Amino acid sequence: MSTLLFSHPACEQHDPGPLHPENPGRLKAIMKTLDSPEFSGLLRREAPRAEHGQIARVHPDSFVHEVLAAIPDHGDRMLDADTIVSPGSGEAALRAAGAVVAAVDAVMAGEADNAFCAVRPPGHHAEPRQAMGFCLFNNVAVGALHAREVHRCHRVAVVDFDVHHGNGTQAMFWDDPDLFYASTHQFPFYPGTGRAQERGVANNIINVPLPPPAGSAEFRQAMRDCVIPAMTRFEPEFVFISAGFDAHADDPLASLNFVEEDYAWATQQLMELARSACGGRLVSVLEGGYDHAALASCAAAHVRTLMRF
Ligand SMILES: [Zn+2]
Repeated sequence: MSTLLFSHPACEQHDPGPLHPENPGRLKAIMKTLDSPEFSGLLRREAPRAEHGQIARVHPDSFVHEVLAAIPDHGDRMLDADTIVSPGSGEAALRAAGAVVAAVDAVMAGEADNAFCAVRPPGHHAEPRQAMGFCLFNNVAVGALHAREVHRCHRVAVVDFDVHHGNGTQAMFWDDPDLFYASTHQFPFYPGTGRAQERGVANNIINVPLPPPAGSAEFRQAMRDCVIPAMTRFEPEFVFISAGFDAHADDPLASLNFVEEDYAWATQQLMELARSACGGRLVSVLEGGYDHAALASCAAAHVRTLMRF
């Protein structure tokens, strides 16, 4: 048994332009690091395309068609002020969501202990009817609902340590007591949601806003005191991580001060929780991270920990 890495070359063909922080170089940096001999033990698979019906568990079918219809044949098109699509974006978005679905299937089939989906565009800002914040489809939510509907994992948890609040995932999980979402994030900050008082229909949402310049101590305290206890009580049958690495001190978009070791530590905590709650079933999905060197080393620390199952 081991850790599965899902990605696809198409995820490097989504190109919002040379000045955009969410550019193909991010994924190239991660994949280059994961190509080093240290990671030769990773199982590697190409992400399949998500089927429309799998995405439509999260987004209305009409929205899926709208997004794919908005993909230009040449040049680029803005879906909002910072969400830009290029000719390769549709295929990338389908592979990104499909990676998470396939990762769930593989972990449920016992083909791997856990999995990391190195994909883009990211997903946690995508609301049911709104692409935003560099995100088209909410990849992690697509995986969560797949785990529930196909594999009968009734109670599903997503932990999101991206520096931005995952407004999209929160919106999708809000009304369902069997879906749990916990986020640590810079606040106040984009997208404006994620106050501690936002708790969901059944205290199934946990938000820990962190004011800058919060770093390792504040993050670990938030995980230890808030996220882990609430998630342990929730008793998840499948655990997902929205793994954004933009809370790192070197990240150009945000002002928190996490370091590589924090991601290894948090990953370890979540693996232990998953082990006692649900046999270790865990799928992690890339979200943000915009300093390429920090992104690559944080993703490496994350995957290195996943491999020590
Ligand atoms: Zn982010």
